[in-house]
Amino acid sequence: MVLIQLKINEPSDIGLELIPYNQFNKIRNIGKGHFVTVYSATWKHEVALVCFNDSHKFLNKVKESDNNFKIYGISQNPNQGDYILVLQSEYCTEYGKTYCKNCGGKYDHIDHTWCKQCLVTATSINSGNEKIDDLIEEMRLKINSHLNIIFEWIPYNQFNYIKEIGKGGFATVYSAIWKDGPLKYNVNEEMCTRVPNKKVALKCLNNSQNMIDEFFNEVRAYSINKIDDILNVYGISQNPNTKDYIIVIEYADGGSYNNWISINYKDFDWRNKIQTLLSIIEGLKGIHKKQKVHHDFHTGNILFLTKNLNNLNRKSLFISDMGLCEDVNNTSEVKTYGVIPYIAPEVLRRKPYTQAADIYSFGMIIDMQRN
Ligand SMILES: [Zn+2]
Repeated sequence: MVLIQLKINEPSDIGLELIPYNQFNKIRNIGKGHFVTVYSATWKHEVALVCFNDSHKFLNKVKESDNNFKIYGISQNPNQGDYILVLQSEYCTEYGKTYCKNCGGKYDHIDHTWCKQCLVTATSINSGNEKIDDLIEEMRLKINSHLNIIFEWIPYNQFNYIKEIGKGGFATVYSAIWKDGPLKYNVNEEMCTRVPNKKVALKCLNNSQNMIDEFFNEVRAYSINKIDDILNVYGISQNPNTKDYIIVIEYADGGSYNNWISINYKDFDWRNKIQTLLSIIEGLKGIHKKQKVHHDFHTGNILFLTKNLNNLNRKSLFISDMGLCEDVNNTSEVKTYGVIPYIAPEVLRRKPYTQAADIYSFGMIIDMQRN
């Protein structure tokens, strides 16, 4: 039965005894979550029965070595078919306290209101491409708050109202409505639900299926943390016709700095200018702190989330086009690109592009504020 389905030939293969369910007495419900129900019972002595409604989650738990509680064996409820892990009885008192109510795993967050494991596994990772799946997992493992974005593979047919909003040498950007929308963790229900009809930007990278490293590099440069001064990323997709990969990012309603200024120039006083410059340098500082160089820093790459100047705050401005971002020490290949007035003189003389060259570009942005 259970063992055949789980591809385990002998219980001894995994060093565990198969305990017939009828050996348990005085079964008493301790609690229930989305994936597990926990009971106390007597066997040869007191034990905890952790019942899983999902065989994959059960198997992961069996494989996962958590030495805090002794595992006596495995069992299966003949009526409900649940897979059961038979643990040391002390598990019952920790369940719901230091162990997650929903998945039964150990909470790794101190206030025990959310479980990293539950968020990382909130939806299956299934892009059909092993390398992409690895990238999705890598992005998921960055989760360190229940407010973080759960990065995912988004099928292209999830997007409606696709409209071109910008075109550059390397990419075309579209706005679109993501039908089902991103996952959001609900603290009260302790589970993720979707926020439908989310407006997003689709950054389609030309020829990305042949430039997978550059594509991965750009994806990693975006943030899943909503409080970062870097544009948020929701996931990746693929255009089924061109096969080009797509980065699904936050939609910047105010457009680029140039566009935003053309709307707000009348009320753009010194106070606002200084506020804006502070936000820009904060964003650049974040990039430099990660030992990166932006390489293409100009007003076209500074995006505003809101159109309206009155809504301006530290969170309303982002630095984009991180595709050219490189590690500080990666100066092997000298490339010159960018928007001429913002390029530092030494770069034009084919010297390596350093963080100082980004600062030169920032200086040019300050200079623009005089107008
Ligand atoms: Zn959990």
